[in-house]
Amino acid sequence: MDITMTRYDPDCIFCKIVAGHIPANLIYKNDHVAAFHDINPVAPVHALIIPLEHIRSLSDLKDGDSEIAARILLAARVVAEKTGVLESGYRVVFNNGEDALQSVGHIHAHLIGGKTMGWPPFAGREVAHGEE
Ligand code: AMP
Ligand code: ZN
Repeated sequence: MDITMTRYDPDCIFCKIVAGHIPANLIYKNDHVAAFHDINPVAPVHALIIPLEHIRSLSDLKDGDSEIAARILLAARVVAEKTGVLESGYRVVFNNGEDALQSVGHIHAHLIGGKTMGWPPFAGREVAHGEE
């Protein structure tokens, strides 16, 4: 972990990944964000892009976080390229809050691809997190 990092939650699983305290299958990292494979993928490609700093959710982003917000989005193309879905297409999703089934309170973009998806996302069977 960069010791100059201003926001860090020692109880946060993604902060622990940033700090190197728990392993992750890293795809990409720069001074602002890290991207790694989701431990429970819902598609052939399922990556998570997170800021190195702890911010709870999309709703907690402040005006001063505009650089971080941009960096998360800018990383999407890089991650798509590295995971081989830049040409075939991919979806970027921020689950925010209870109804959206956000389960980790450290903002993250899901980058999903490698198969054709449906739309809208709630058209099929409704599932809770972790259900088959
Ligand atoms: P969300 O439900 O939007 O909060 O997404 C959290 C995601 O983090 C889920 O898709 C989990 O499978 C994933 N996840 C949880 N713990 C880990 C971990 N240690 N490494 C990689 N992905 C994880
Ligand atoms: Zn965190």
